[in-house]
Amino acid sequence: MTGSLRDLPSVDSLLQSPRLLEWIAIYGRLLTTQAVREALAQVRAAHPAASTLPARSELEQEIHNLLTAWTASTLEPVINATGVILHTNLGRAPLSRAALAAAVRVSSGYSNLEYDLERGQRGSRLIHAEALLQCLTGAEAALVVNNNAAAVLLVLTGLARRRAVVIARSQLVEIGGGFRVPDVMKQSGARLLEIGATNRVHLADYAEALREAPALVLRAHRSNFRIIGFTGEPALPEIVALAHQSGVPVVDDLGSGSLIDTARFGLAHEPTVQESLAAGADLVCFSGDKLLGGPQAGIIIGRGELVAKLKKHPLARAIRADKLCLASLTATLGHYLKDEAEREIPIWRMISTPLADLEQRAQAWRRSLGHGEVVSGESTVGGGSLPGETLPSWLLALSPSAPDRFLRRLRQADPPVIARLKNDQVVLDPRTVLPEQEQDLLAALRPLLG
Ligand SMILES: *Cc1c(COP(=O)(O)O)cnc(C)c1O
Repeated sequence: MTGSLRDLPSVDSLLQSPRLLEWIAIYGRLLTTQAVREALAQVRAAHPAASTLPARSELEQEIHNLLTAWTASTLEPVINATGVILHTNLGRAPLSRAALAAAVRVSSGYSNLEYDLERGQRGSRLIHAEALLQCLTGAEAALVVNNNAAAVLLVLTGLARRRAVVIARSQLVEIGGGFRVPDVMKQSGARLLEIGATNRVHLADYAEALREAPALVLRAHRSNFRIIGFTGEPALPEIVALAHQSGVPVVDDLGSGSLIDTARFGLAHEPTVQESLAAGADLVCFSGDKLLGGPQAGIIIGRGELVAKLKKHPLARAIRADKLCLASLTATLGHYLKDEAEREIPIWRMISTPLADLEQRAQAWRRSLGHGEVVSGESTVGGGSLPGETLPSWLLALSPSAPDRFLRRLRQADPPVIARLKNDQVVLDPRTVLPEQEQDLLAALRPLLG
């Protein structure tokens, strides 16, 4: 349509067209009217530089584009073809079916979150995961909070405010997302009492620090880096024995906190929660969505009187876990109790997938696409556990002429596919692609392979 701005349809006439009436039913009159005004304003702004006015159908299309863009969720599922199992940027651990069902069941209506059904009065939300955690780990007590960063902050604030906390210099870590042990310490009001050198700390260093009557000794898992060469630190039981002689409790921030021995899958041994307790740690903290494979949560377990003190601290209220978290965490813990974690928890299923299955899946992708080659490669655990450790895998490798552009177009697919580059090839790792996402993955790849 050529012509002057006077030929533009009015807001009212647009709102009465059949397509617009449909969109009003979907998006509401207010938002649709706003989209109409915005689309008309865009045309006016482009005029007179644009010599032609858009046709009515083009105008309507633009209105629809605005409506879908404005109402689209920015948080969307993606397909993780990177082979990084606990990918921090991709939401860490996917939930098991039971964990998901539990969250839906408890949150689509009311629940007994804080209601004692037996006595018909107020109950505590803290009981829901506590019994399971006690049963699985043998700990006297447990407390679940929003995430492990909050758990560490609560422990330090609740037990060491205005007092010293002993920690080895080799453990003053920074985890992704801005969690730094020294900064959390400062925030809690505890005083950092660093001991040892960057690479080595001795039992004598602990002994000397204990003379200053600290509130506690903290051990933090290094999580995302390794120190190699001339290194060393005392084992946890030695530290505990020494600290207990001075009546000082030991807190072990495990980070990932596995309940299962990772060495069973050809990986290095990641310290387990049970081992820390057996070594005598008074409190152990770990994440819900790292190697536990559940929802985002921070779990504190250990001695009854210390956990009781933390439960009563005002900060505990501010960082408490919500019902979605407690429902899905309880269901996740149930998998461990029933000894079905490897089968039911997605991250353990991924870690324990036999190599032959991965090769078969990569080959099936190649056959279905008629493109690429199947090459050997590595998956990683990620999520601040087992740094530098890899699991052998089979990858589908594609050789597009512009790999970066290819990756970008994969990210624009619906759902977006996240892959990675290896030696200028685009590689896709079947280990982290959920079986129910395979058809979507292939559908995203096909049009790009032409
Ligand atoms: C990951 C990690 C944290 C933080 O846990 P979030 O659940 O991400 O808050 C704290 N300490 C250590 C050692 C970690 O590895």
